[in-house]
Amino acid sequence: MNKKTVKDIDVKGKRVLLRCDFNVPQDEDGNITDNRRIVAALDTIKYLIYNDAKIILCSHLGRPKGEFKKQFSLSPVAKELEKLLGKEVKLSEDVVGECSKKLVQNMKDGDIVLLENVRFEKGEEKNDPEFAKQLASLADIYVNDAFGTTHRAHASTAGVAKFLPAVAGFLVEKEINFMSNALKNPERPFIAILGGAKVSDKIGVIDALLEKVDTLIIGGGMAYTFLKAQGYNIGNSMCEADKLDLAIKLMEKAKEKNVKLLLPVDTVIGKEFKRDTESKVVKSTEIPNDWEGFDIGPKSIELFGEEIKKAKTVIWNGPVGLFEFDKFAVGTNSIAKILSEVDATTIIGGGDSAAAIEKAGLTDKMSHVSTGGGASLQLLEGKELPGIECLENK
Ligand code: AMP
Repeated sequence: MNKKTVKDIDVKGKRVLLRCDFNVPQDEDGNITDNRRIVAALDTIKYLIYNDAKIILCSHLGRPKGEFKKQFSLSPVAKELEKLLGKEVKLSEDVVGECSKKLVQNMKDGDIVLLENVRFEKGEEKNDPEFAKQLASLADIYVNDAFGTTHRAHASTAGVAKFLPAVAGFLVEKEINFMSNALKNPERPFIAILGGAKVSDKIGVIDALLEKVDTLIIGGGMAYTFLKAQGYNIGNSMCEADKLDLAIKLMEKAKEKNVKLLLPVDTVIGKEFKRDTESKVVKSTEIPNDWEGFDIGPKSIELFGEEIKKAKTVIWNGPVGLFEFDKFAVGTNSIAKILSEVDATTIIGGGDSAAAIEKAGLTDKMSHVSTGGGASLQLLEGKELPGIECLENK
Protein backbone atom coordinates (compact mmCIF):
# COMPACT_ATOMS: atom_id res chain seq x y z
CA MET A 1 0.00 0.00 0.00
CA ASN A 2 1.33 3.43 -0.89
CA LYS A 3 -0.40 5.15 2.03
CA LYS A 4 1.19 5.98 5.36
CA THR A 5 0.14 3.92 8.35
CA VAL A 6 0.26 4.54 12.10
CA LYS A 7 3.78 3.15 12.01
CA ASP A 8 4.95 6.04 9.81
CA ILE A 9 4.13 8.76 12.33
CA ASP A 10 4.94 9.58 15.92
CA VAL A 11 1.85 9.03 18.05
CA LYS A 12 3.41 9.36 21.51
CA GLY A 13 1.33 11.69 23.68
CA LYS A 14 -0.83 12.67 20.67
CA ARG A 15 -4.61 12.68 20.53
CA VAL A 16 -5.41 10.16 17.81
CA LEU A 17 -8.89 10.08 16.27
CA LEU A 18 -9.30 6.46 15.17
CA ARG A 19 -12.24 5.77 12.84
CA CYS A 20 -13.31 2.14 13.24
CA ASP A 21 -16.14 0.11 11.78
CA PHE A 22 -18.06 -0.92 14.87
CA ASN A 23 -21.27 -1.42 12.89
CA VAL A 24 -21.97 -4.77 14.54
CA PRO A 25 -25.17 -6.83 14.39
CA GLN A 26 -27.27 -6.91 17.59
CA ASP A 27 -30.29 -8.88 18.79
CA GLU A 28 -33.52 -7.24 20.03
CA ASP A 29 -32.03 -6.79 23.50
CA GLY A 30 -29.00 -4.96 22.12
CA ASN A 31 -26.59 -7.86 22.62
CA ILE A 32 -23.83 -8.01 20.02
CA THR A 33 -24.32 -11.20 18.00
CA ASP A 34 -21.07 -11.03 16.03
CA ASN A 35 -18.08 -9.09 17.38
CA ARG A 36 -15.69 -9.71 14.45
CA ARG A 37 -15.58 -6.07 13.41
CA ILE A 38 -14.57 -5.03 16.93
CA VAL A 39 -11.94 -7.75 17.10
CA ALA A 40 -10.60 -6.62 13.72
CA ALA A 41 -9.88 -3.15 15.16
CA LEU A 42 -7.88 -4.39 18.14
CA ASP A 43 -4.45 -4.50 16.49
CA THR A 44 -4.42 -0.77 15.81
CA ILE A 45 -5.95 0.10 19.18
CA LYS A 46 -3.36 -2.00 21.02
CA TYR A 47 -0.53 -0.46 19.00
CA LEU A 48 -1.75 3.01 19.98
CA ILE A 49 -2.06 2.03 23.66
CA TYR A 50 1.43 0.53 23.60
CA ASN A 51 2.83 3.66 21.98
CA ASP A 52 1.28 6.03 24.53
CA ALA A 53 -1.26 7.75 22.32
CA LYS A 54 -4.54 9.18 23.59
CA ILE A 55 -7.07 7.15 21.68
CA ILE A 56 -10.34 8.75 20.57
CA LEU A 57 -12.45 6.10 18.86
CA CYS A 58 -15.38 6.84 16.58
CA SER A 59 -17.75 4.79 14.43
CA HIS A 60 -21.23 4.63 13.01
CA LEU A 61 -23.80 2.00 13.97
CA GLY A 62 -26.92 1.42 11.89
CA ARG A 63 -28.91 4.24 10.35
CA PRO A 64 -30.09 6.69 13.02
CA LYS A 65 -30.46 9.41 10.34
CA GLY A 66 -28.81 12.34 12.05
CA GLU A 67 -30.38 12.22 15.51
CA PHE A 68 -29.81 10.50 18.85
CA LYS A 69 -31.65 7.19 19.06
CA LYS A 70 -30.90 4.98 22.01
CA GLN A 71 -30.99 1.72 20.06
CA PHE A 72 -28.08 2.96 17.96
CA SER A 73 -25.89 3.96 20.90
CA LEU A 74 -22.35 2.59 20.91
CA SER A 75 -22.76 1.63 24.57
CA PRO A 76 -22.68 -2.16 23.87
CA VAL A 77 -19.54 -1.61 21.78
CA ALA A 78 -17.83 0.22 24.66
CA LYS A 79 -18.59 -2.72 26.96
CA GLU A 80 -17.35 -5.28 24.43
CA LEU A 81 -14.15 -3.29 23.90
CA GLU A 82 -13.54 -3.12 27.65
CA LYS A 83 -13.95 -6.88 27.82
CA LEU A 84 -11.60 -7.52 24.90
CA LEU A 85 -8.95 -5.02 25.98
CA GLY A 86 -9.22 -5.47 29.74
CA LYS A 87 -9.12 -1.69 29.99
CA GLU A 88 -11.54 1.15 30.64
CA VAL A 89 -13.27 2.65 27.58
CA LYS A 90 -15.10 5.89 28.39
CA LEU A 91 -18.18 6.40 26.24
CA SER A 92 -19.05 10.01 25.52
CA GLU A 93 -22.70 11.11 25.56
CA ASP A 94 -22.22 13.05 22.33
CA VAL A 95 -20.03 13.17 19.26
CA VAL A 96 -18.41 16.61 19.17
CA GLY A 97 -20.29 18.25 22.06
CA GLU A 98 -19.30 19.34 25.55
CA CYS A 99 -19.07 15.81 26.91
CA SER A 100 -16.58 14.68 24.26
CA LYS A 101 -14.50 17.85 24.65
CA LYS A 102 -14.29 17.40 28.41
CA LEU A 103 -13.44 13.69 28.23
CA VAL A 104 -10.71 14.36 25.68
CA GLN A 105 -9.27 17.26 27.72
CA ASN A 106 -8.84 14.96 30.70
CA MET A 107 -7.19 12.10 28.81
CA LYS A 108 -3.83 10.68 29.80
CA ASP A 109 -1.53 8.76 27.48
CA GLY A 110 -2.96 5.30 26.77
CA ASP A 111 -6.54 6.34 27.71
CA ILE A 112 -9.45 5.44 25.46
CA VAL A 113 -12.55 7.53 24.80
CA LEU A 114 -15.30 6.33 22.46
CA LEU A 115 -17.38 9.09 20.87
CA GLU A 116 -21.08 8.38 20.38
CA ASN A 117 -22.36 7.16 17.00
CA VAL A 118 -21.14 9.67 14.38
CA ARG A 119 -24.42 9.23 12.50
CA PHE A 120 -26.23 10.96 15.38
CA GLU A 121 -24.88 14.09 13.65
CA LYS A 122 -26.55 15.26 10.44
CA GLY A 123 -23.21 16.40 9.06
CA GLU A 124 -21.70 12.91 9.03
CA GLU A 125 -23.31 11.34 5.97
CA LYS A 126 -23.43 14.72 4.18
CA ASN A 127 -19.68 15.01 4.67
CA ASP A 128 -20.30 18.51 6.04
CA PRO A 129 -16.95 20.33 6.30
CA GLU A 130 -18.07 22.15 9.45
CA PHE A 131 -18.81 18.87 11.25
CA ALA A 132 -15.58 17.33 9.92
CA LYS A 133 -13.69 20.33 11.32
CA GLN A 134 -15.32 19.96 14.74
CA LEU A 135 -14.44 16.27 14.78
CA ALA A 136 -10.87 17.07 13.76
CA SER A 137 -10.56 19.72 16.49
CA LEU A 138 -10.70 16.94 19.11
CA ALA A 139 -7.47 15.38 17.85
CA ASP A 140 -3.92 15.84 16.51
CA ILE A 141 -3.88 12.89 14.11
CA TYR A 142 -6.54 10.99 12.14
CA VAL A 143 -6.28 7.25 11.57
CA ASN A 144 -8.75 5.44 9.34
CA ASP A 145 -9.14 1.75 10.13
CA ALA A 146 -12.80 1.42 9.13
CA PHE A 147 -12.27 -0.60 5.97
CA GLY A 148 -15.98 -1.45 5.75
CA THR A 149 -16.86 2.21 5.19
CA THR A 150 -13.92 3.34 3.06
CA HIS A 151 -16.17 3.33 -0.04
CA ARG A 152 -18.22 6.16 1.50
CA ALA A 153 -17.12 9.78 1.57
CA HIS A 154 -18.54 10.79 4.95
CA ALA A 155 -17.16 13.33 7.43
CA SER A 156 -15.54 10.73 9.69
CA THR A 157 -14.32 8.50 6.86
CA ALA A 158 -12.89 11.14 4.51
CA GLY A 159 -13.82 14.77 5.28
CA VAL A 160 -11.87 14.91 8.54
CA ALA A 161 -8.63 14.10 6.67
CA LYS A 162 -8.60 17.63 5.25
CA PHE A 163 -7.92 19.05 8.70
CA LEU A 164 -5.43 16.58 10.23
CA PRO A 165 -2.42 14.47 9.28
CA ALA A 166 -4.20 11.31 8.07
CA VAL A 167 -2.91 7.74 7.94
CA ALA A 168 -4.23 4.18 7.73
CA GLY A 169 -4.64 1.63 10.51
CA PHE A 170 -3.50 -1.99 10.29
CA LEU A 171 -6.85 -3.43 9.23
CA VAL A 172 -7.10 -1.05 6.27
CA GLU A 173 -3.49 -1.84 5.38
CA LYS A 174 -4.11 -5.59 5.50
CA GLU A 175 -7.35 -5.43 3.49
CA ILE A 176 -5.81 -3.26 0.77
CA ASN A 177 -2.66 -5.34 0.56
CA PHE A 178 -4.51 -8.63 0.20
CA MET A 179 -6.90 -7.36 -2.38
CA SER A 180 -4.50 -5.32 -4.47
CA ASN A 181 -1.76 -7.97 -4.44
CA ALA A 182 -4.26 -10.54 -5.59
CA LEU A 183 -5.44 -8.27 -8.37
CA LYS A 184 -2.03 -7.00 -9.47
CA ASN A 185 0.13 -10.11 -9.22
CA PRO A 186 -2.14 -13.10 -8.77
CA GLU A 187 -0.59 -16.51 -8.70
CA ARG A 188 -2.38 -18.31 -11.54
CA PRO A 189 -4.78 -19.88 -12.25
CA PHE A 190 -6.76 -16.98 -10.83
CA ILE A 191 -10.47 -17.66 -10.29
CA ALA A 192 -13.31 -15.42 -9.19
CA ILE A 193 -16.61 -16.76 -7.93
CA LEU A 194 -19.44 -14.26 -8.01
CA GLY A 195 -22.88 -14.83 -6.58
CA GLY A 196 -25.67 -12.82 -5.04
CA ALA A 197 -28.96 -11.57 -6.23
CA LYS A 198 -28.45 -8.90 -8.83
CA VAL A 199 -26.38 -8.63 -11.98
CA SER A 200 -26.84 -4.86 -11.89
CA ASP A 201 -24.88 -4.61 -8.61
CA LYS A 202 -21.97 -6.55 -10.03
CA ILE A 203 -21.67 -5.42 -13.67
CA GLY A 204 -18.61 -3.29 -12.94
CA VAL A 205 -16.98 -6.10 -10.99
CA ILE A 206 -17.63 -8.72 -13.68
CA ASP A 207 -16.33 -6.35 -16.34
CA ALA A 208 -13.15 -5.55 -14.37
CA LEU A 209 -12.51 -9.17 -13.38
CA LEU A 210 -12.77 -10.34 -16.99
CA GLU A 211 -9.57 -8.36 -17.60
CA LYS A 212 -7.75 -10.26 -14.87
CA VAL A 213 -9.01 -13.76 -14.11
CA ASP A 214 -8.51 -17.07 -15.89
CA THR A 215 -11.91 -18.39 -14.86
CA LEU A 216 -15.07 -16.62 -13.74
CA ILE A 217 -17.73 -18.67 -11.99
CA ILE A 218 -21.18 -17.11 -11.76
CA GLY A 219 -23.76 -18.52 -9.36
CA GLY A 220 -26.66 -17.21 -7.31
CA GLY A 221 -29.69 -15.33 -8.52
CA MET A 222 -27.73 -13.45 -11.13
CA ALA A 223 -26.81 -16.61 -13.05
CA TYR A 224 -30.36 -16.85 -14.41
CA THR A 225 -30.10 -13.58 -16.31
CA PHE A 226 -27.13 -15.11 -18.14
CA LEU A 227 -29.06 -18.35 -18.80
CA LYS A 228 -32.09 -16.43 -20.05
CA ALA A 229 -29.84 -14.33 -22.30
CA GLN A 230 -28.73 -17.59 -23.94
CA GLY A 231 -32.37 -18.35 -24.72
CA TYR A 232 -33.14 -20.86 -21.99
CA ASN A 233 -36.34 -21.05 -20.03
CA ILE A 234 -35.71 -20.01 -16.42
CA GLY A 235 -39.26 -20.28 -15.06
CA ASN A 236 -39.84 -17.80 -12.25
CA SER A 237 -36.14 -17.52 -11.36
CA MET A 238 -34.67 -14.11 -10.67
CA CYS A 239 -34.03 -12.22 -13.85
CA GLU A 240 -33.20 -8.66 -14.80
CA ALA A 241 -34.91 -8.31 -18.15
CA ASP A 242 -33.14 -5.04 -18.90
CA LYS A 243 -29.73 -6.65 -18.40
CA LEU A 244 -30.03 -9.44 -21.00
CA ASP A 245 -28.05 -7.55 -23.67
CA LEU A 246 -25.41 -6.73 -21.15
CA ALA A 247 -25.16 -10.38 -20.10
CA ILE A 248 -24.53 -11.28 -23.76
CA LYS A 249 -21.86 -8.58 -24.02
CA LEU A 250 -20.13 -9.88 -20.89
CA MET A 251 -20.19 -13.43 -22.22
CA GLU A 252 -18.69 -12.17 -25.50
CA LYS A 253 -16.03 -10.28 -23.61
CA ALA A 254 -15.14 -13.47 -21.71
CA LYS A 255 -14.60 -15.25 -25.03
CA GLU A 256 -12.50 -12.40 -26.40
CA LYS A 257 -10.33 -12.35 -23.30
CA ASN A 258 -10.03 -16.12 -23.20
CA VAL A 259 -11.66 -16.28 -19.79
CA LYS A 260 -13.49 -19.49 -18.98
CA LEU A 261 -16.97 -18.39 -17.86
CA LEU A 262 -18.83 -21.05 -15.92
CA LEU A 263 -22.54 -20.99 -15.14
CA PRO A 264 -24.43 -23.60 -13.10
CA VAL A 265 -25.19 -26.69 -15.19
CA ASP A 266 -27.89 -27.82 -12.79
CA THR A 267 -30.13 -25.97 -10.38
CA VAL A 268 -32.11 -26.70 -7.25
CA ILE A 269 -35.54 -25.30 -7.96
CA GLY A 270 -38.36 -24.57 -5.57
CA LYS A 271 -42.08 -23.97 -5.99
CA GLU A 272 -42.22 -20.91 -3.79
CA PHE A 273 -39.97 -18.50 -1.90
CA LYS A 274 -40.48 -20.46 1.32
CA ARG A 275 -38.20 -22.31 3.71
CA ASP A 276 -40.03 -25.64 3.37
CA THR A 277 -41.13 -25.36 -0.23
CA GLU A 278 -41.15 -28.43 -2.49
CA SER A 279 -37.82 -28.68 -4.32
CA LYS A 280 -35.94 -30.75 -6.91
CA VAL A 281 -32.83 -30.68 -9.07
CA VAL A 282 -33.06 -30.00 -12.81
CA LYS A 283 -30.69 -29.04 -15.61
CA SER A 284 -30.21 -25.27 -15.63
CA THR A 285 -31.34 -25.26 -19.23
CA GLU A 286 -34.62 -26.97 -18.40
CA ILE A 287 -36.21 -25.03 -15.55
CA PRO A 288 -39.96 -25.59 -15.79
CA ASN A 289 -42.49 -22.79 -15.71
CA ASP A 290 -43.81 -21.96 -12.22
CA TRP A 291 -40.55 -23.07 -10.57
CA GLU A 292 -37.72 -20.89 -9.30
CA GLY A 293 -33.98 -21.55 -9.18
CA PHE A 294 -32.72 -21.17 -5.62
CA ASP A 295 -29.35 -22.93 -5.54
CA ILE A 296 -26.69 -24.55 -7.69
CA GLY A 297 -27.11 -28.32 -8.05
CA PRO A 298 -24.69 -31.21 -7.27
CA LYS A 299 -23.20 -31.35 -10.80
CA SER A 300 -22.43 -27.62 -10.65
CA ILE A 301 -20.80 -28.06 -7.26
CA GLU A 302 -18.63 -30.77 -8.77
CA LEU A 303 -17.82 -28.74 -11.89
CA PHE A 304 -17.01 -25.58 -9.92
CA GLY A 305 -15.09 -27.64 -7.35
CA GLU A 306 -12.84 -29.19 -10.00
CA GLU A 307 -12.04 -25.74 -11.34
CA ILE A 308 -11.43 -24.25 -7.90
CA LYS A 309 -9.06 -27.09 -7.00
CA LYS A 310 -6.79 -26.06 -9.90
CA ALA A 311 -6.60 -22.45 -8.74
CA LYS A 312 -3.74 -20.71 -6.98
CA THR A 313 -5.73 -17.55 -6.21
CA VAL A 314 -9.49 -17.44 -5.57
CA ILE A 315 -11.70 -14.47 -4.83
CA TRP A 316 -15.28 -15.13 -3.75
CA ASN A 317 -18.04 -12.58 -3.42
CA GLY A 318 -21.72 -13.41 -2.97
CA PRO A 319 -23.62 -16.58 -2.06
CA VAL A 320 -24.41 -19.00 -4.91
CA GLY A 321 -27.93 -19.62 -3.63
CA LEU A 322 -30.66 -18.53 -1.26
CA PHE A 323 -28.40 -19.59 1.61
CA GLU A 324 -30.60 -18.14 4.37
CA PHE A 325 -32.84 -21.22 3.85
CA ASP A 326 -31.02 -24.45 4.81
CA LYS A 327 -32.56 -26.27 1.91
CA PHE A 328 -30.85 -23.91 -0.53
CA ALA A 329 -27.60 -23.37 1.38
CA VAL A 330 -25.88 -26.55 0.15
CA GLY A 331 -24.21 -24.85 -2.82
CA THR A 332 -22.84 -21.95 -0.78
CA ASN A 333 -21.67 -24.24 2.03
CA SER A 334 -20.02 -26.60 -0.45
CA ILE A 335 -18.11 -23.73 -2.07
CA ALA A 336 -16.99 -22.63 1.42
CA LYS A 337 -15.81 -26.17 2.21
CA ILE A 338 -13.95 -26.57 -1.09
CA LEU A 339 -12.23 -23.22 -0.54
CA SER A 340 -11.17 -24.28 2.94
CA GLU A 341 -9.36 -27.29 1.48
CA VAL A 342 -7.55 -25.84 -1.56
CA ASP A 343 -3.88 -25.01 -1.65
CA ALA A 344 -4.38 -21.45 -2.86
CA THR A 345 -4.69 -17.87 -1.66
CA THR A 346 -8.38 -17.57 -0.78
CA ILE A 347 -9.93 -14.16 -0.42
CA ILE A 348 -13.51 -13.72 0.70
CA GLY A 349 -15.18 -10.39 -0.06
CA GLY A 350 -17.21 -9.47 3.04
CA GLY A 351 -20.99 -9.50 3.39
CA ASP A 352 -22.96 -12.70 2.86
CA SER A 353 -20.06 -14.90 1.75
CA ALA A 354 -18.09 -13.93 4.86
CA ALA A 355 -21.18 -14.70 6.97
CA ALA A 356 -21.54 -18.12 5.30
CA ILE A 357 -17.86 -18.90 5.94
CA GLU A 358 -18.20 -17.83 9.57
CA LYS A 359 -21.36 -19.90 10.05
CA ALA A 360 -19.53 -22.93 8.67
CA GLY A 361 -16.68 -22.27 11.14
CA LEU A 362 -14.19 -21.95 8.28
CA THR A 363 -12.99 -18.35 8.70
CA ASP A 364 -9.57 -19.45 9.97
CA LYS A 365 -9.07 -21.67 6.94
CA MET A 366 -9.17 -18.75 4.48
CA SER A 367 -6.20 -16.54 3.62
CA HIS A 368 -8.30 -13.43 4.09
CA VAL A 369 -11.93 -12.72 4.96
CA SER A 370 -12.71 -9.10 4.29
CA THR A 371 -14.64 -7.02 6.82
CA GLY A 372 -16.21 -4.88 4.09
CA GLY A 373 -18.62 -6.14 1.44
CA GLY A 374 -19.26 -2.90 -0.44
CA ALA A 375 -15.69 -1.67 -0.05
CA SER A 376 -14.17 -4.91 -1.31
CA LEU A 377 -16.51 -4.94 -4.32
CA GLN A 378 -15.40 -1.42 -5.15
CA LEU A 379 -11.76 -2.50 -4.90
CA LEU A 380 -12.44 -5.46 -7.20
CA GLU A 381 -14.00 -3.03 -9.62
CA GLY A 382 -10.76 -1.08 -9.63
CA LYS A 383 -12.47 2.02 -8.23
CA GLU A 384 -10.84 4.38 -5.80
CA LEU A 385 -12.06 4.36 -2.20
CA PRO A 386 -12.57 7.89 -0.78
CA GLY A 387 -11.61 6.73 2.72
CA ILE A 388 -8.22 5.57 1.41
CA GLU A 389 -7.61 8.30 -1.17
CA CYS A 390 -7.77 10.97 1.53
CA LEU A 391 -4.82 9.47 3.45
CA GLU A 392 -1.21 10.67 3.11
CA ASN A 393 1.03 8.99 0.57
CA LYS A 394 4.26 7.35 1.71
P1 AMP B 1 -26.20 -9.63 -2.94
O1 AMP B 1 -26.60 -8.68 -1.87
O2 AMP B 1 -26.48 -9.16 -4.33
O3 AMP B 1 -24.81 -10.20 -2.77
O4 AMP B 1 -27.20 -10.87 -2.79
C1 AMP B 1 -27.21 -11.69 -1.68
C2 AMP B 1 -28.56 -12.34 -1.60
O5 AMP B 1 -28.80 -13.04 -2.78
C3 AMP B 1 -28.69 -13.31 -0.46
O6 AMP B 1 -29.69 -12.84 0.41
C4 AMP B 1 -29.12 -14.60 -1.16
O7 AMP B 1 -30.10 -15.30 -0.45
C5 AMP B 1 -29.68 -14.10 -2.46
N1 AMP B 1 -29.68 -15.13 -3.50
C6 AMP B 1 -28.62 -15.80 -3.98
N2 AMP B 1 -29.03 -16.69 -4.90
C7 AMP B 1 -30.38 -16.58 -5.01
C8 AMP B 1 -31.37 -17.22 -5.82
N3 AMP B 1 -31.05 -18.17 -6.69
N4 AMP B 1 -32.64 -16.81 -5.68
C9 AMP B 1 -32.97 -15.85 -4.79
N5 AMP B 1 -32.08 -15.21 -4.00
C10 AMP B 1 -30.80 -15.57 -4.13
